[in-house]
Amino acid sequence: KDSVVCRNVSKIWAAGTRRAHEALRDIDLDVSPGEFVVFLGPSGCGKSTLLYLIAGLEPATAGEIWSFRDRVDTPSPERSLIFQETSLFPWLNVWQNVTFGHAIRGVPEAERKAIAADALQRVGLAEAINKRPDELSGGMRQRVAVARALSMRPKVLLMDEPFAALDVQTRQKMQDFLLDVWRDSGASVLFVTHSIDEAVALSDRIVVFTARPGRIKTIVTNPLPRP
Ligand code: ADP
Ligand code: ADP
Repeated sequence: KDSVVCRNVSKIWAAGTRRAHEALRDIDLDVSPGEFVVFLGPSGCGKSTLLYLIAGLEPATAGEIWSFRDRVDTPSPERSLIFQETSLFPWLNVWQNVTFGHAIRGVPEAERKAIAADALQRVGLAEAINKRPDELSGGMRQRVAVARALSMRPKVLLMDEPFAALDVQTRQKMQDFLLDVWRDSGASVLFVTHSIDEAVALSDRIVVFTARPGRIKTIVTNPLPRP
């Protein structure tokens, strides 16, 4: 069972209007469970759009997307999406942010705190459990976002330039951190970046897109061993 399958996926934003805009054409992609796949390509080639579709946040205009046995048509915590600038709720502390999804489902507080403690441990932020987002650095806030995603036990982690807003040193640390978390979680990761260096540092395979409309130009198996 593949973790994500795209078959002939196309996306036209605002289809049928004068502003119709073809973002993706005929995307075919198979991602294995536990695989780390990086999307690389020029700005505007549809990388974010494809993550949106796989997340179930937007319907494809044509084609089919599957995750394990399920047709993807709605969002699911099994496929968590993390953005460049994560929105944490400023009025909630770290553990409340991490388990916000559990709170909505009515999971009791004691249980939520335990879930948060476990997830924060995994991202190396156990000591920040009672802090507020504004007491954290940018890198720490992205770790909280990863903890929030992991607390849902996702099978697929979708990451849209998650480290692009961070300085070079923090970014390097976050890459190492992500590889640790990924190995530990067993999840597949689909990771968007502009950076060839980042793609090579992180990936099992690199999917290179053409400029608009986004099509897959080539898929490269990363020949370089990871640290
Ligand atoms: P990338 O992530 O590769 O930079 P995007 O997926 O963000 O590319 O965008 C692909 C194209 O689709 C761009 O031309 C962009 O303007 C357009 N687009 C992205 N999101 C939307 C949207 N919500 N509505 C209309 N057009 C969009
Ligand atoms: P990036 O290039 O970093 O992937 P963008 O700046 O293209 O992101 O897009 C940021 C947000 O704006 C996204 O939510 C995207 O869907 C939306 N967006 C991008 N282009 C358009 C557009 N032409 N019309 C409406 N929304 C858009």
